Amino acid sequence: MGPFERAEIIAAGSELLTPHRIDTNSLFLTARLNELGVVVGGKCVVGDRKADLALVFRQALERADVVIISGGLGPTADDVTRDAVAEVLERPLEEHADILDTIRERFARRGARMPEINRRQAMVPAGAVPLANAVGTAPGLMIETANRLIVLLPGPPRELRPMFEAFVAPRIARDAGGRMLRRRVVKVTGRSESQVEELSQPVYSTFGASGVEMDTTILAAPGQIELHVSAIGADPAQIDRALDDAVGRLEAAIGSPVFSTDGRALEAVVGDLLRTKGWRVAAAESCTGGGLLSRLTEVPGSSGWVIGGIVAYANDVKIDQLGVPADLIAGHGAVSEPVAQAMAEGVRRKLGADIGVGITGIAGPDGGSPEKPVGTVAIAVCGGTTRARTFLFPGDRDAIRRHATSAALEMMRQDLLGQNL
Ligand code: ATP
Repeated sequence: MGPFERAEIIAAGSELLTPHRIDTNSLFLTARLNELGVVVGGKCVVGDRKADLALVFRQALERADVVIISGGLGPTADDVTRDAVAEVLERPLEEHADILDTIRERFARRGARMPEINRRQAMVPAGAVPLANAVGTAPGLMIETANRLIVLLPGPPRELRPMFEAFVAPRIARDAGGRMLRRRVVKVTGRSESQVEELSQPVYSTFGASGVEMDTTILAAPGQIELHVSAIGADPAQIDRALDDAVGRLEAAIGSPVFSTDGRALEAVVGDLLRTKGWRVAAAESCTGGGLLSRLTEVPGSSGWVIGGIVAYANDVKIDQLGVPADLIAGHGAVSEPVAQAMAEGVRRKLGADIGVGITGIAGPDGGSPEKPVGTVAIAVCGGTTRARTFLFPGDRDAIRRHATSAALEMMRQDLLGQNL
């Protein structure tokens, strides 16, 4: 059999269809399958009705050569995975003596008699191989047909993960023919998703011509766009060459808004630049309420380059603590480039920093006006040079505050690199 190329994942359990529980098993399984060179072609969550599970299982079998179902292996009547799989594969359920013994022993060790309903857990589709559960009672099951690998794993993540590592990963790797997947992430800021798509699509549409199977996806978050480039093949050197080439071409097409190709976050990139230059930063924040300093101090070692800051929400604080002239606020408004610049200069002077940042804006939902709608944020950085910009960020209050801290970090990065974009 194999190599296994496409997998489908089914998360079984009605509780996963409520707002209280989320299917995380498929995230773990997807990451591990990808590392083993298997692409996940689809996944779904299905409730505890046998007919529903049988239907999605039947469909998955048509599309994939590996189908993994998690959950529904317990002893109660709503644990229908074994029955649904037996029905679809047209294999009878048979009592498995070893499984029964293992479950009995587990109870006996705790000085208890096995409840009769646990017998259900020993009823398995004919030909299924039990996978020992080191942590719970429900054993996993592996079934191989002529051209499919079907794996049933218990729902609790702490039972599923070790079982996958012990039995499923080695089974897939054995037939993978050395295939593997590697991924690189190109991170971009200061550009919208459609701008990044426009610049990168002509480049990534030609990926894969070198014989390595490649895939590119775009992920957008407030203040940041990520291009995920993955390559699948059998030769690690060839995969790395293809990825190096792909990342280099994307960087060239997008230009300086690319801030990271090695996984580092924007605050880590800025931290590294500050450390290299031997500079220390201070920030005066209004609408972000300390969010910029929070991101900067997430980076280990940041005490080497972060001094601190002042959350200057009220105008009095801007005036009394940062020395922003009252008539500047009266003349331009608190949300303006001159005020942002005076905040940046004030906090730099007051805390004795090399680079100062000022952020003042309207995060909403109230407080907007026709001239300065919600989302208007003025940001100033005074470091190598002094510059101030006004942005109009989209989204709700959280998104606007996140955009503002990203834009401030990007202005710092440009200043530290001596760029003027
Ligand atoms: P057990 O007999 O050990 O309970 P089981 O296979 O019957 O195993 P379920 O009853 O379906 O497992 O699920 C048990 C618990 O595991 C659920 O309450 C849930 O908290 C967790 N769980 C189930 N499926 C998932 C999933 N896809 N992602 C994350 N957690 C899950």
